[in-house]
Amino acid sequence: MKITKHRLIEDPNVSFKQTPNIGKNFSKGLPDTIIIHYTAAPNVNSAINWLTNKSANASAHLVIARDGKITQLADFNVITWHAGKSKWKEREGLNNYSIGIEIDNCGILRKVDSKTYQHGETGPKFTKEDVMIAIHRNGKKTEAWHKYTEIQIERVKEVCKLLINEYNVKFILGHEEIAPGRKTDPGPAFPLDELREELLGKQKKEIINSFPLKGIIIKDTSLLSQPHPNSEVVYKKVSDNTEIILLQEKDSFYKVEVPLIGYVSKAHVQLDNTDNDFDGVVTTNGLNFRSKPDPKSDTLGQALSKGQKFSLLENGAAWIYIRYVAQGWIGKDKVRFL
Ligand SMILES: [Zn+2]
Repeated sequence: MKITKHRLIEDPNVSFKQTPNIGKNFSKGLPDTIIIHYTAAPNVNSAINWLTNKSANASAHLVIARDGKITQLADFNVITWHAGKSKWKEREGLNNYSIGIEIDNCGILRKVDSKTYQHGETGPKFTKEDVMIAIHRNGKKTEAWHKYTEIQIERVKEVCKLLINEYNVKFILGHEEIAPGRKTDPGPAFPLDELREELLGKQKKEIINSFPLKGIIIKDTSLLSQPHPNSEVVYKKVSDNTEIILLQEKDSFYKVEVPLIGYVSKAHVQLDNTDNDFDGVVTTNGLNFRSKPDPKSDTLGQALSKGQKFSLLENGAAWIYIRYVAQGWIGKDKVRFL
């Protein structure tokens, strides 16, 4: 199999069936992303019929059947309609950036009895061997997922490799990642993280070399003074969902810039309304940064130094609630890129 003039050729198990549901050609430098889907259709023919039916207003570049047969529905240089309302990093509407691969798979199955699972009320039935019980990456409870066939996963990998070479693809994403809450495909039965790691490991390192990057804390963690677990704590608890800037990496840590929030005594600061960038400055060394406006409350981490600038969140008589941006180190496993 190879790609010539934006089509897969030289493989007896590849065919082409043009879909009318297409947009313009991709802009220069695109596509640079592959989006993986499951069809959630009863079988591959119904999926292909739907995606080539004008009234569906939906399409994809490829459909991969359970026996590994591939049907291409549009040339790879043309935009297809598989992502819908979607967002990733600063991008919205991922159709304009990506090649869509649909894999014949029923998705979430309904448990009929102890031995049987079904796609919806009337769809095909499956036994346990075809089912994976797992929690979705965006979910909380276990569900039954239709397994992919080995040959399907091999074929996805084979096609992704060709696309990476031909179009300088940098990202492989699941529909579930660009439309979380609305979409669950390809779901936990598809080895998405492994595929990415295997095929894009190199590209991922290139991305990491382009610091600074936006990130978010995914698990409460301490901000440390050095890239070492036993180093001094700058701030005891950076909460999950805090947005941060990643500055560099070392071993299993990222150097980050984090907004920190707490109370300081008003006696040791000078408020300044003349500067637009900050509201005040610390006038003494070792000013305690506390969880409450109370000298007996816990300190949140390192004391502040003279000259530390901050934003004022709340002004009180003896205490003020402030925010300042600190640098420090955080374990890589506590951070996700945005
Ligand atoms: Zn999808």
